[in-house]
Amino acid sequence: MEEQAAALRALAAQIGVCPKCDLSKTRTHAVPGEGNPNADIVLIGEGPGFYEDQQARPFVGPAGKFLDELLASIGLKRSDVFICNVLKCRPPGNRDPLPSEMAACKPWLDEQLAAINPRVIVTLGRFSMGRYFPGQSISRIHGQTKKVDGVMVVPMYHPAAALHQGSLRRTIEADFKKLPAVLQETLKQEPEREEAPRKPEAVQIQLL
Ligand code: URA
Repeated sequence: MEEQAAALRALAAQIGVCPKCDLSKTRTHAVPGEGNPNADIVLIGEGPGFYEDQQARPFVGPAGKFLDELLASIGLKRSDVFICNVLKCRPPGNRDPLPSEMAACKPWLDEQLAAINPRVIVTLGRFSMGRYFPGQSISRIHGQTKKVDGVMVVPMYHPAAALHQGSLRRTIEADFKKLPAVLQETLKQEPEREEAPRKPEAVQIQLL
């Protein structure tokens, strides 16, 4: 746990001063991600928006409030999971990430996931889905769990997309409800990691 927290803290410090793409020139703050370094579940969004860029924290705007509700609907708090993004810096005007930006940023997320080693990865939106299911359509595969490189990955709609659209909202709510069973099943199949010591309180990884 301490090692994972230290690794994530070191990564957050490096991400905070990352110069690898032009988003470093327009960001207010990089947004490394935050949550439990020992999380079973990691949620990956697209990239920081206005509020995230201001606060250096992921999902703190309206989509984040909805994400908090979705987590609460399955009995989880933000501090139980780890929340981060494909891009660590805000694209100006919240435009879509460029392939070159995602390529430059990829090693950060790779290293975060290697440090946390989660049981389940939830991708939120099509850009994080593309990391695991390139060329797929989110409308076809949302809510369907698939093991990719040894980890269960559950693609879901982005909460921002679902927030104001009744049918998508019900879809993402239903997809979230599947998560506890996905996690249970994974723990049943690979129980050995359950024995690792766990601390009840989460360490918040932030860079302010
Ligand atoms: N949307 C995202 O994809 N990530 C955030 O952190 C906030 C909004």
